[in-house]
Amino acid sequence: MIELPANKANIKKAAEIIKSGGLVAFPTETVYGLGANAFNPIAVSKIFEAKKRPFFDPLIVHIATISTIGEIADGLDPIETKLAETFWPGPLTLVLPKHNSIPDIVTAGLPTVAVRMPANEIARELILEAGVPVAAPSANLFGRVSPTEARHVANQLGKNIDMILDGGKCEIGMESTILKIEDGVPFLLRYGGLPIEEIEKTIGKVNRIVYTADTKRTDTPESPGQLTYHYSPLTQLILIDDIKSIKIEKTKAGLLAFTHPQKDLPFEKIEILSGTGNMREAAANLFSCLHKLDSSNLDIIYAEKVPEEGLGKAIMDRLTKAAKKDNLNFY
Ligand code: AMP
Ligand code: MG
Repeated sequence: MIELPANKANIKKAAEIIKSGGLVAFPTETVYGLGANAFNPIAVSKIFEAKKRPFFDPLIVHIATISTIGEIADGLDPIETKLAETFWPGPLTLVLPKHNSIPDIVTAGLPTVAVRMPANEIARELILEAGVPVAAPSANLFGRVSPTEARHVANQLGKNIDMILDGGKCEIGMESTILKIEDGVPFLLRYGGLPIEEIEKTIGKVNRIVYTADTKRTDTPESPGQLTYHYSPLTQLILIDDIKSIKIEKTKAGLLAFTHPQKDLPFEKIEILSGTGNMREAAANLFSCLHKLDSSNLDIIYAEKVPEEGLGKAIMDRLTKAAKKDNLNFY
């Protein structure tokens, strides 16, 4: 059994594993991460191997205190400083000029590195205890549904990693928002757990260069890891505007509903993101509802669209990519 409760002794053990080049899955407020010593290229290569993640998809490096930023990035400009001061620790990733100490495998050879300081205290204690920055993508198989509970990690990666620190459910349940500042101009690279509206209240208008499910992938260095197929259950998922429009015939169908749907719908299983239509709750439940539906032996999952406001944008980004099965063989 590699799932251990995240108490002090086990956090210490996990830190020892990281220091000696192993892999530890750990809770953050966004999703569970699969961590390795960001300074150790061999350890980082094990992340790609365990996840079956392509090497062109760069990782996020996690730090516990702002004072260590100089070890991985070549400083913060005034906008980045303001963002870090306002939103760290929290679900915001900044893409910064990379320090030489970060091996190329972490950044897919880019001159920039993605950095985040998680709010989850277990995550920060682990990083502090390990004494190194921790490179960590989500702890799931590449392209599949992200883990928001320790058992989600165990189901997908259990045999291939050294330890899972169980810290319960992830509070936000949605990956971080990713921003890059170029010559003083902010760009949004991914919708995530920090609503873009909140960021704009702090630094003004942010340009969007987010990749949607319809974007054609290119190999240009400006667009690393912006995959159009992502977050996918193994069961086919179809996004729908209106539940009433679905004609279910013989198939065993499941429904991912935004809020309480009308009664007597002909679904084998229904998962509700938020009974009260609360977007924060919906985001936190998204991946666990998808895990439940995906393990219910269904032929198809219908997912109701959610309003694209605040975290609703991040939810719709994940759902449109989860529904995009046809480019599975592209990579
Ligand atoms: P995750 O899989 O949630 O750990 O997120 C990693 C994502 O961060 C990648 O898929 C990229 O989209 C983004 N990312 C990481 N490093 C960079 C970078 N140097 N430049 C731009 N985006 C990056
Ligand atoms: Mg991921």
